[in-house]
Amino acid sequence: MTGRSLITDVQNTWCPGCGNFTIQHTLKTILAEMEQEGKSLDNVVLVSGIGCHAKIADYLNINSFYTLHGRTIPVATGIKLANPNLTVICCCGDGDCYAEGLDHLIFAAKRNVDITVIVHNNRVYGLTTGQYTPTSPLGYKGKSTPGGTAEYPLNPLELMLASGATYIARGYTRKMDQLNTLIRGGIAHRGFSFIDVLQICATFFPAADYYSSRVYELTDHDPANFDRACSIARAWDYNSDAQIALGEVYRANFPTYNERMVLSGVPKTNRDEVIRAFLASRV
Ligand code: SF4
Repeated sequence: MTGRSLITDVQNTWCPGCGNFTIQHTLKTILAEMEQEGKSLDNVVLVSGIGCHAKIADYLNINSFYTLHGRTIPVATGIKLANPNLTVICCCGDGDCYAEGLDHLIFAAKRNVDITVIVHNNRVYGLTTGQYTPTSPLGYKGKSTPGGTAEYPLNPLELMLASGATYIARGYTRKMDQLNTLIRGGIAHRGFSFIDVLQICATFFPAADYYSSRVYELTDHDPANFDRACSIARAWDYNSDAQIALGEVYRANFPTYNERMVLSGVPKTNRDEVIRAFLASRV
């Protein structure tokens, strides 16, 4: 199908000022660009979880799978393994993949599954009215922590560097052009692509002033330099008043999970035969 309208007519219920609009329109632009470049959007799949971010599956007119809370990445992995020709884009929330689905995130990075994970990191559970998530800052006061949280936030970039992700970037919903570049880079990358997006939650975590006074765009950075990438990731711990780097932090080329799988490139009709031969070789 070509020339489709990429925005559905489903009523949009995101709050005015929500950063999810930026991510939606960035993805819409990217999908339109891909189609203009000759890629069939029938070969693109969007997977979302549960939370405010997940409604993007209702609002973008593209093949999509609305999964359970925390289960975006295993579903996306299964889709990619079943049909390696598909471009699989996974939209997760921070509660979704840094809490419920954290183990899936780590193992998909470790396996270098060829999917693109975009985390709508608003640092709060917005859909359930403001409980703290793994990236909320120390002392965050929400519905479940009226006295303030008593724990430091997780640093997802550092975690992904340690887990083996081969494309790691950070964007911000007030920097839409750069976000486009980072997501396009992730989709083009062969391997596990991770983009942590500082997404404004206008209602429960309105941090635009905080971010806008601290963010800067990475320049003269070689993303192949792992040690430098670690320094950039550690410079801001999602809690301090340090400057916040935006951009492509790390990139490496390693075989993907599909490429390492025994069934890679084997037509479906021959799979029983190949599995039997593989098992026999292990006896
Ligand atoms: Fe967006 Fe926050 Fe409203 Fe959810 S609660 S739609 S994240 S502004």
